[in-house]
Amino acid sequence: SGKWAQAQSILKDFEEKCGTPISKLKQVADAMNVEMHAGLASEGGSKLKMIISYVDNLPTGDEKGLFYALDLGGTNFRVLRVHLGGKEHRVVKQEFEEVSIPPHLMTGSSDALFDYIAEALAKFVATESEGLHFSPERQRELGFTFSFPVRQTSISSGTLIKWTKGFSIEDAVNSSNLYSYFAVGQDVVGELTKAMERIGLDMRVTALVNDTIGTLAGGRYNNPDVVAAVILGTGTNAAYVERAHAIPKWHGLLPKSGDMVINMEWGNFRSSHLPISEYDEALDIESLNPGEQIFEKLISGMYLGEVVRRVLYKMADEAAFFGDTIPEKLKIPFILRHGKMRKTFLTPHMSAMHQDTSPDLKIVATKLKDILEISNTSLKMRKVIVELCDIVATRGARLSAAGIAGILKKIGRDTLKDGEKQKSVVSLDGGLYEHYTKFRTCMENTLTELLGEEVSENIIIEHSNDGSGIGAALLAASHSQYI
Ligand code: ADP
Ligand code: MG
Repeated sequence: SGKWAQAQSILKDFEEKCGTPISKLKQVADAMNVEMHAGLASEGGSKLKMIISYVDNLPTGDEKGLFYALDLGGTNFRVLRVHLGGKEHRVVKQEFEEVSIPPHLMTGSSDALFDYIAEALAKFVATESEGLHFSPERQRELGFTFSFPVRQTSISSGTLIKWTKGFSIEDAVNSSNLYSYFAVGQDVVGELTKAMERIGLDMRVTALVNDTIGTLAGGRYNNPDVVAAVILGTGTNAAYVERAHAIPKWHGLLPKSGDMVINMEWGNFRSSHLPISEYDEALDIESLNPGEQIFEKLISGMYLGEVVRRVLYKMADEAAFFGDTIPEKLKIPFILRHGKMRKTFLTPHMSAMHQDTSPDLKIVATKLKDILEISNTSLKMRKVIVELCDIVATRGARLSAAGIAGILKKIGRDTLKDGEKQKSVVSLDGGLYEHYTKFRTCMENTLTELLGEEVSENIIIEHSNDGSGIGAALLAASHSQYI
């Protein structure tokens, strides 16, 4: 009927807007490379902050001793303890505990939050086995993973720049908005240290890092060829190892290693070459951070499902795709102005539908019914929905690959040096990468397509399973006050 043709045409228009032919991806990779240069040249020189992390030493494997880490970045936080045994024994033991932030603290002050975290740390320290904390005069050391953009002032200090993810953990109507705890400009290590002092916990923060840098450190510990790390989760970000002399805005002494890890904050990348549709524009305007994190809004787990919902809504509204009325649940955007996540259609639902292999698309039908309360869909309709998911995921995955190609280009790993077989490993982590197989496969294939078969033989994408927590502990070790 006319309606069906109309729905098809909405889909086709959208597909065209989302196109990512290799020529376009190369422009995106080039633009990423150009912005990286600009962000390194001067503070504020680019949308890419290219934050100097002060991490000039990545773990080598020689690290020894007992180290702690605190991973804060969602509604839960984690405390970790790692016993490092040096080159031979590596990670002897690793323990962690996940702690949720109780509701009564959700609206509290940052003091109250940090007190709670310090208490949890103290309790965790108390479970340390006898004899593990080698010398009693040695202070316990902690790596602090704080997954929000921080302007570092040293390896162990920094102030909050701004909020990016808008809020943290999805799928929970009562998810907290951690942003309300922190003021821009707040010294996060100072706050934590004061809280530890208040309760008499003798522990020193020796490294403040974000999750991307933690992942890079964790990856490097396992594989010396790791040169970059990318997070594809609720949000997205990347970090890589730069030559310190290639950072014009760095006015400090050149580090002995000659290296400096850069936290790109690549979610804020934007370029006229990015394929952006009317749905993305509307999503951006209605988001908590309009005009910002444009790359992230095309790629990351927080947004992919929402883009699908918006296109479906248009099909329901203008082409009566689901009948004469628009299904109520389809009207609910993923987020409310005050930053709480609504129970609605999310990226994990999208990936479940997209990856439905049953001949009659049973999972698509079930998700439509359970999540959107839409029943009686035809197979033909369900196929259209799978196609829609494919368009959104493919664009995100291919753009991620272009971003990685941009980094490899910046560090000269996108071509073959004559005769050289230098391997370059990129550590990947995050729920989207981990659980959305079609996204992951498409990203990896696209990277090969971009670099060519020959170069790709030396480029390895490695899943760094939860590298960020252990990475922070490793960085606490490699930046210990005792070495
Ligand atoms: P965070 O990024 O919040 O630190 P994770 O790295 O665990 O946490 O990523 C969680 C995100 O990964 C979720 O917000 C969701 O967008 C995405 N995700 C989780 N599971 C799936 C899935 N099965 N399919 C697609 N995306 C998923
Ligand atoms: Mg994370």
